[in-house]
Amino acid sequence: MEVTSLTVHELQALIRAGQISPREAVEALGRRIEEVDPLIHGYLSHDLERAVSEAQQVDVRLPLGGVPISIKDVINVKGHPCGCASKILDGYVAPYDATVIAKLRAAGAIPFGRVNMDEFAMGSSTENSAFGPTRNPWDITRIPGGSSGGSAAVVAADEGFAALGSDTGGSIRQPAALCGRVGLKPTYGRVSRYGLVAFASSLDQIGPITKDVRDAAILMNVISGPDKFDSTSLSDQVPNFTANLDQGVKGLKLGLPKEYFIEGIDPEVDKTVRAAVARLEELGAEVFEISLPHTEFALSTYYIIAPAEASANLARFDGVRYGFRAKETNSLLEHYGKTREEGFGPEVKRRIILGTYVLSSGYYDAYYLRAQKVRTLIRQDFAAAFEKVDAIVCPTSPTAAFKLGERTNDPLSMYLADIFTLAANIAGICGVSVPCGFLAREGKQLPVGLQILGQELNEATVLRVAYAYEQNTEWHKAKPPIA
Ligand code: GLN
Repeated sequence: MEVTSLTVHELQALIRAGQISPREAVEALGRRIEEVDPLIHGYLSHDLERAVSEAQQVDVRLPLGGVPISIKDVINVKGHPCGCASKILDGYVAPYDATVIAKLRAAGAIPFGRVNMDEFAMGSSTENSAFGPTRNPWDITRIPGGSSGGSAAVVAADEGFAALGSDTGGSIRQPAALCGRVGLKPTYGRVSRYGLVAFASSLDQIGPITKDVRDAAILMNVISGPDKFDSTSLSDQVPNFTANLDQGVKGLKLGLPKEYFIEGIDPEVDKTVRAAVARLEELGAEVFEISLPHTEFALSTYYIIAPAEASANLARFDGVRYGFRAKETNSLLEHYGKTREEGFGPEVKRRIILGTYVLSSGYYDAYYLRAQKVRTLIRQDFAAAFEKVDAIVCPTSPTAAFKLGERTNDPLSMYLADIFTLAANIAGICGVSVPCGFLAREGKQLPVGLQILGQELNEATVLRVAYAYEQNTEWHKAKPPIA
């Protein structure tokens, strides 16, 4: 068996038993990357030598002792470049470890490489990377999803054991779905954002993309918890997410939101997800139709709040403190303007302009303030639903992976890729995507994801449902047809 095809828990067990050394694991990863990454372009960079030297120092008895974890290029890893797949951060080297990285290290993991993403996490296809797109391992003419497309693709292609991504509107769950892997967006505040480059601070969360549900639970055990460096991190106690994974779904109430099975969704995705829900019913869950009446406003609410916050957060990239600096400017204003003009890509500029507009005096009340009010309504929808059900089940994405280039000239059709994931971020709740089947397209198998949404701080329940489904199906064992 190939070392790189192991899950995190399998690898850790072999390392602990002395059958594989951390160094061998890192070197196997290096060889696999050499072999498949020219096709996938999942990594922006990696430092094999440094990873090997770290591997030789880890304590293999720790929970993640000796396991390399691939890191999205939006999370600071001390001494490594952190570029958000943007030109504007050219030359920037992280001066400190993000809290999630410190926690990974304390658990014995080896933060590994920088995986590709949409620039500043804005996008759904990884085509907005300033360094070229990542390709979907199931069909390299297609996108891997985004913005954590690199995270999902490297895990799917077995050139990463597991990865960290970030999810502001779906960026962990949607690429996980499109690459046939597991992706979990924690409750807002469950995981510290310290050291995550901010996109939309009230929506961003870091989370795992993994080969199976157990790995997601293991990583959640490590990265969750309060942090004095992030005042929005929650002080609530973190349960042991692996402890109750195998309790099954018998007696659990699952809600099927009628607004999520709509026109525009690929009929085969609809069918595949409904079959998955039927499987959960066979396993003992009770399924109810529910309503989330403000669903239709989620997209427009998100595309006001997220750009508004982004326009403020990205103001710091002015060529003075970080990364890229435009040459030959004659005044400070010209310096700011030219640096940002040359440093940011088109989608990032679009968001900054949109965000500045909705916050500007005269438009603030009509857009930003109203969006905040609708945000409350969306939150209330979920709160009411969770009085009736333990979790909500629905598609992660309305379609399977689309072709590279298919939507790049049509921002609105790109935005629609996240129609089923955005609301969870708006409401601050948690959600997981788990593989639930394939669509056949042009001789290729394209993965479909089942999304399971849970109440605030109820990751344990969504993981339990996901695990029950996974353990009674074979989808997570399928490997893409590369090299
Ligand atoms: N695709 C959405 C956007 O472009 C969500 C991105 C994300 O979750 N980071 O904003």
